[in-house]
Amino acid sequence: MIIHTISELRKIIKDWQKEGLSIGLVPTMGALHDGHKSLIEKSVSMCGKTVVSVFVNPIQFCPGEDLDKYPRTLIQDEILVNKAGGDVIFAPSPAEMYGEGHILSNDFLTYVVPPYFYTDKLCGKSRTGHFDGVCTVVNKLFNIVRPDFAFFGEKDRQQLIIIKKMVKDLNIPVEIVACPIVREKSGLALSSRNKYLNETQKTDALALSKILFNINDCFKKGIKDVNALKETAYGFLNENHDLEYLEFRDADNLEEKTVADLNTVVFIAVKTAGVRLIDNLKLG
Ligand code: AMP
Repeated sequence: MIIHTISELRKIIKDWQKEGLSIGLVPTMGALHDGHKSLIEKSVSMCGKTVVSVFVNPIQFCPGEDLDKYPRTLIQDEILVNKAGGDVIFAPSPAEMYGEGHILSNDFLTYVVPPYFYTDKLCGKSRTGHFDGVCTVVNKLFNIVRPDFAFFGEKDRQQLIIIKKMVKDLNIPVEIVACPIVREKSGLALSSRNKYLNETQKTDALALSKILFNINDCFKKGIKDVNALKETAYGFLNENHDLEYLEFRDADNLEEKTVADLNTVVFIAVKTAGVRLIDNLKLG
């Protein structure tokens, strides 16, 4: 079932709450794939009812990004949600979420701004304001759905860490459940943006996971120095790759590491054929 308005969704949720059912929320931007499916299935396994939001959130896109061409496939999304056992898709319009005001100016909106220490690095460095947009929409979804559990993928690990911090700092009564990255057999992390890639470009995109797995192998062989581990990446990159970052950071607070340990995550972002891809791996 697809619901487009907040008022309709609230009615359904009220009924579920009366029945004493626990509620899981899976926030997405749609163009759903098996990565999203794993989150929905996890929610279905843990909760009485599962809401999947499908909303291409305009305020988390920066000027010049792919807001207009981001894939929108609601009919196929409904089939995937049904297969995974989800109960409701919440697919609001931007006006339903933000009123007409934000179209005139973002100054019309109250924002949730996560700490600068978490957003001035990795994806936040090139995507100014992105995580303000993410935290604002996720907070709104929490207030609309009032879920007991919310499911986020480690695919967007900086986002996951920032949302956990927001929930803790603002005492939001929801439990965040982290879900592992789903990959193709080749190693490529599933992403809605993979739809932009042809087969050759997909092969170039494999560099990200290859670099991460190779670094992990080297780590397991005893190399702990981050500079030495970074050196191993360059053999996987060619003129089709524009490396945005390759960084080693603490899994809980994103502090930079110079010596890798078991609480280190390697984060990578690469542009290939104009498409920006991200991946990450916790060492060990
Ligand atoms: P998106 O629609 O890209 O905003 O993603 C919605 C949610 O699905 C986020 O919590 C993502 O981290 C998660 N997700 C996206 N791709 C994957 C994947 N390959 N494996 C696991 N979770 C994913």
